[in-house]
Amino acid sequence: MQPMPADIKVNESLQNYAIRKAREVAALEQENKQLIDNCDHWESKATELANDVATFFNTNIGEHSNVNCPVENAIDAVHMRMGQKPETIKYQCSKCTEQYDVDVFAHKSPNIGIECQCGASMVPIN
Ligand SMILES: [Zn+2]
Repeated sequence: MQPMPADIKVNESLQNYAIRKAREVAALEQENKQLIDNCDHWESKATELANDVATFFNTNIGEHSNVNCPVENAIDAVHMRMGQKPETIKYQCSKCTEQYDVDVFAHKSPNIGIECQCGASMVPIN
């Protein structure tokens, strides 16, 4: 005999339990879809703004990839135009001995995705 589900209500039949669970899952899926739609909407707005900033400052922000974020580059362009200086942070490959100096603005996490030539991720060192 199968054990009863831990969250079944007193006097609730297994059939009603299954119906209640199916409705809960459907509601969660709907909520998840709305979150994804909302995320897609604002990502599209951020990309539009980044492209406008790039045009306005006549700068190249690149295409989105796992190692390049046009939105971050557009923010960097604004910070440079405002006269801010980036901090140089030394990164080391998590796999080989490769090291890079990377200019990072204060608004960015030092753990930004930077990839070594060997394909491993670079981590900041002090
Ligand atoms: Zn490496």
